[in-house]
Amino acid sequence: MQEPIATLKTLVIEKLSGGITAIGINVPGHSQNVMNQDFMQELEHVFAFLQQNPPRGLLVESLRDDSFLAGADIGQIDTVWSLPPARLKELCDKGRNLLGMFASSPWPSVAVIDGVCLGGGLELALACDLRIATENHKTILGMPEVKLGLLPGWGGTVRLPRLIGTGPAIELIASGDAITGSQAKTLGLVDACVPVHSARESACVLIEQAIASGDYLKRRSESQLPQAMDKPESDFLVATTGAVIVGRTKGNYPAPMVAFNTIMQGATHPIKEAAALESKAFSELAKTSVAKQLVRVYRLRERNRSDCGLGKSAQLTPNKSLHVNELQIPSIVGAGIMGAGITARHVRSGFITKLVDINAEALEQSIPTILEEAAWDRYYQKTNQERVGELTGRLMSSTQLSSISDTDIVIESVIERTDLKRQVLAEIEATVSPSTVICTNTSTNPIATLADVFSDPTRFCGMHFFNPVRKMSLVEVIRGPDTSDSTVASVVLHAKRLKKVPVVVQDSPGFLVNRVLTPYLHESVELLREGVDPSRIDKVSRRFGMPLGPLELYDMVGLDTAFYAGLVMANAIGDRIDASPVIPALVKAGWLGRKTGTGFYRYKSTGHDAKIECVNEKLVDLIDPYRLAEQQMTDDQICDRLFLPMLLESLLVLDEGIVRDGCDIDLAVIHALGFPAFRGGVLAWGDSIGAAEVIRRLDQFNYLGPRMKPPARLLAHAESGRPFTLVEESESYSRKST
Ligand code: NAD
Repeated sequence: MQEPIATLKTLVIEKLSGGITAIGINVPGHSQNVMNQDFMQELEHVFAFLQQNPPRGLLVESLRDDSFLAGADIGQIDTVWSLPPARLKELCDKGRNLLGMFASSPWPSVAVIDGVCLGGGLELALACDLRIATENHKTILGMPEVKLGLLPGWGGTVRLPRLIGTGPAIELIASGDAITGSQAKTLGLVDACVPVHSARESACVLIEQAIASGDYLKRRSESQLPQAMDKPESDFLVATTGAVIVGRTKGNYPAPMVAFNTIMQGATHPIKEAAALESKAFSELAKTSVAKQLVRVYRLRERNRSDCGLGKSAQLTPNKSLHVNELQIPSIVGAGIMGAGITARHVRSGFITKLVDINAEALEQSIPTILEEAAWDRYYQKTNQERVGELTGRLMSSTQLSSISDTDIVIESVIERTDLKRQVLAEIEATVSPSTVICTNTSTNPIATLADVFSDPTRFCGMHFFNPVRKMSLVEVIRGPDTSDSTVASVVLHAKRLKKVPVVVQDSPGFLVNRVLTPYLHESVELLREGVDPSRIDKVSRRFGMPLGPLELYDMVGLDTAFYAGLVMANAIGDRIDASPVIPALVKAGWLGRKTGTGFYRYKSTGHDAKIECVNEKLVDLIDPYRLAEQQMTDDQICDRLFLPMLLESLLVLDEGIVRDGCDIDLAVIHALGFPAFRGGVLAWGDSIGAAEVIRRLDQFNYLGPRMKPPARLLAHAESGRPFTLVEESESYSRKST
């Protein structure tokens, strides 16, 4: 490397041979390079410098590993919410014009993209004449703004379609998904994808070629014009991509559709007018509550990524260090639905994984499913068969527990029978080394009931995955009576290495998720007993944003499983919520849901993927003996009946200290139940109504008894006017495990 000619806070200017200047990005104080105020100001200064010292060509690169430029600094976004639309438009124009300096300067520019290149980072790369991506597996390119309820506001919706075509640009921007360097090359988003070590050299070659041919000037002037798109092409995009977006967002997430319309309109206008459309669309989206909620959810996820999950409950002092072990050799015991899913996740995450099941046939049957799931290619939506071959060597299976003696974490996932679990856990402890962490994936057993078989219960905790493991990212890490902080923190870290969202929960019936789910499920059955049509109940819930209605969820989980879980919960919260007589009646009738082809609904086939044919016609007769006084209800009232009890239970969970704060509740319901992220989680939804209004709405249901009675915490919030989510988010948990 030659001597830099200027070193600023975030940028370094360096002169390379052949009259080429390199701008190196290195933004301090962040885990990724981000576009904060310093960066934007310094970029302006660099262009002023370049006007005085014009290079023959310009190269933009990152000076740190694996991070080209990850977009705008989300930490600074709160200033945006309060700005008037005109000021927001101005800000978009200013940022876009600054990046536009790359395209309006006389010399050609090339972005060398090694590592994360997202949002504004990709908009900067698009403003350059040429782009090179590296083959580094950490190199990803994308525009995730729609995931925050926004759209790219610095030229992304204008420049990307002009480079790769309207259809592919809509797909990339409206999905918010990221792609690899080689996928970007296939799309024409980058001009080359090369090994990291030759990226700079290749960039210099591209610059020389551009200077020699002058092609970049032609491309620049072409990009000023509207894009050619005939009516059949635009009708096709509306009918296909537009329809997919409507189906995916169900009208709840405006950003993808706004991005679609902005790109479609912008394509038919000269670049300046297209840019004005982009600024307008951005300023409108930034005013929506959806954007604010999605940014908050993003922050909850970031907090989860960067802390050890213990919060204030950790018995930590400056002198007492926390031993967080990076566990390397995992074993799973039990190759059923859950054990197979957990194993697949381990194999996919790069672990050499051992799987034990007492039943050789069950074990053998699970292997192909595990490998197919582990080798699933999300981009192409199919299993990568070549990858299956590569992963086969990472999975070892046995019917003998002795095969896992050298493991350092075991996740027990045998059938949900307390006596069997106790026996298997005791055998595991006798087999493995004294330092091995042992977890149970139980749904209903209190950890305390299982912990007393251990001679060292400090190394034991719950690790509760959700079904299906490949889709549901939450993992409850359940602290038993003697579980050590080190065990908890090591399991939290392990869950993160599986790309899961771990939430630490105190041992209590239903833990967190099943506890807040119970009142919601219970209420749906009570509504049935009051004469509300099953499909109406589910429709109201789906319109609220849930992926499935409560009765559909019952059928998916299985009525027998729900019955058993219901018994556990009834023991715990029976003072407010009675076990429903309808569920045992369904089980007695043999209607267990999808697995038997009949439950609340009748299905076209049996099994997990069975499709609904119609409401179970015989349900009316089954419910008859248990009917309650019929109630006439609006959809809004049905919605409140379903979701207000979930909110009340969450407040009780906070009172009991089952989780450290409300952020974990919101994160958990989103990642385990599919609670709509655009509502920010159950507590954020409560805030959108306000405590006083919640009490008013509960009042109309007081005929239902204690389960609709406002708990003390709700009354206190109504009195003080303090939001449910406020205090928790200002608390900082600085101790880091990663
Ligand atoms: P499953 O019945 O599909 O599989 C259990 C497996 O355990 C079977 O393959 C069985 O052969 C094996 N097994 C039984 N005894 C064994 C022993 N002594 N040693 C080794 N293997 C043994 O059950 P599942 O649905 O995968 O559930 C497993 C655990 O996960 C349960 O504790 C359950 O509560 C929990 N869980 C289930 C779900 C769900 O939706 N299915 C969700 C979360 C948690």
